[in-house]
Amino acid sequence: MATTLERSPADAFIASGAKKLLIGGQWVPAQSGKTFETINPANGEVIGHAAAGDAADVDAAVAAARKAFENPAWSGMNPHGRSRLLLKIAAAIEANAEELAQIESRDNGSPLSIARMMIAGVGETFVYYAGWATKIYGETNPSPGGILNYTLREPVGVCGQIVPWNGPLSSAAWKIAPALACGNTVILKPAEQTPLSSIRLGELMIEAGVPAGVINIVTGFGETAGAAIAAHSGIDKVGFTGSTEVGKKILIASAGNLKRVTLELGGKSPNIVFPDADLDAAAVSTAQGFWFLSGQICVAASRILVHRSVHDAFAAKLADQAKVINVGDPETATTMMGPLVSREQFDRVTSYFGVAQADGARLVTGGKALDRPGYYVEPTIFADARNDMRIAREEIFGPVTLLIPFDDEEEALAIANDTSFGLAAAVWTKDLGRAHRVARALKAGTVWINTYLYTDLISPFGGYKQSGIGRELGRSSIDAYTEIKSVYAKLD
Ligand code: ADP
Ligand code: MG
Repeated sequence: MATTLERSPADAFIASGAKKLLIGGQWVPAQSGKTFETINPANGEVIGHAAAGDAADVDAAVAAARKAFENPAWSGMNPHGRSRLLLKIAAAIEANAEELAQIESRDNGSPLSIARMMIAGVGETFVYYAGWATKIYGETNPSPGGILNYTLREPVGVCGQIVPWNGPLSSAAWKIAPALACGNTVILKPAEQTPLSSIRLGELMIEAGVPAGVINIVTGFGETAGAAIAAHSGIDKVGFTGSTEVGKKILIASAGNLKRVTLELGGKSPNIVFPDADLDAAAVSTAQGFWFLSGQICVAASRILVHRSVHDAFAAKLADQAKVINVGDPETATTMMGPLVSREQFDRVTSYFGVAQADGARLVTGGKALDRPGYYVEPTIFADARNDMRIAREEIFGPVTLLIPFDDEEEALAIANDTSFGLAAAVWTKDLGRAHRVARALKAGTVWINTYLYTDLISPFGGYKQSGIGRELGRSSIDAYTEIKSVYAKLD
């Protein structure tokens, strides 16, 4: 019917002018008056402006969050009321899911189909933690006659939450939902590449009835707004998802007032493919594991260890998978993989193509940028690689993977664990004993057996070694967002 272009739900929001900070329930410009551009990586065009918050704005947000935390209307809220509030947020996200998905897709270049899935997950996260709000129990402990000893779980306080650009709202929801379920207040800082969806979420949260100051949003740069959050003595806890390099800076800055810190950082996740595995299934899953979101996921299948007897056959199968990946405009329904998020990321990822070949890895497929506007690169596979090559040691964060041959289980495990990271890993085999033996020996926070990327909010997520500190999701987030108080009462 329509002969003119219909406006999509996201257009009105994106066109509505420079975005502001959410502080104490009010939308305000940065005190400096500064703004920054946000860009659509599919074409390099500016799609909007957001307030460039810095230390002064973080101060204001901390004051608002502290006041809200101390207000009995929030801290003394009936847990059933808190649960209902989280359900209202979930309902608002679900009612506006298409708009949120479009905003996310335009800001970070994720295919709209994937952005829709991720926004569904964002709503689900609030539903899940709505359930927890009424189930945050302490314990009554064994104690001698004359003494009663029990524990209380209390909110930590004001929480700074710094999130990245690859799944902006997913990362935000993983942090905001449990923080609120436990009665904390929040200052969220989205990544400078992707400020828009968090702002729309803030609007929806206020509409859903979240009290002023319980959620504050400070958009801005890492070195200014982010660093101010990490260092602020009025913030009790910082939750961070991002690079290992920045995670270390946050840990150091947090030491000033000994903030509670959870860090979800990078990875170089091994997939170990044994010769008895279903190689076709392994090829499908590991391929998806390295191109999903253009490889810009912390659990990307970025090191594939393959038994030497099937190495070449597996490389060929993986290359066949790479050929059917539809790379293109994020809003086209058939697109499976969009661009990288930014020019900076594009330069970084493409620089590894030369590095890999100079180190002696064999290019199987890809290895080039796409000849079109926007930050597109080809899904890229290197074979006959070694674990001491830079491409095997550094997180590339692009649709790039490599195959390393091994001769036996012991060698496979040694290579798999020879990394500074420990976020995820997988084992592919039909031998049950080996599957569980290897799963146990892998030093990683998530291990998959004969599958990849499957996750559930009920299960803890996080990393060994330099992939992070602490765990998020499931019950782990309740631990992360509560303090435990032990109470002794003398009964006589
Ligand atoms: P990436 O390298 O994938 O962009 P980063 O770790 O740089 O990931 O960014 C993740 C988040 O950390 C972003 O919100 C970014 O603004 C923020 N950030 C970057 N540098 C700092 C810093 N020095 N202190 C606090 N936050 C920072
Ligand atoms: Mg952007």
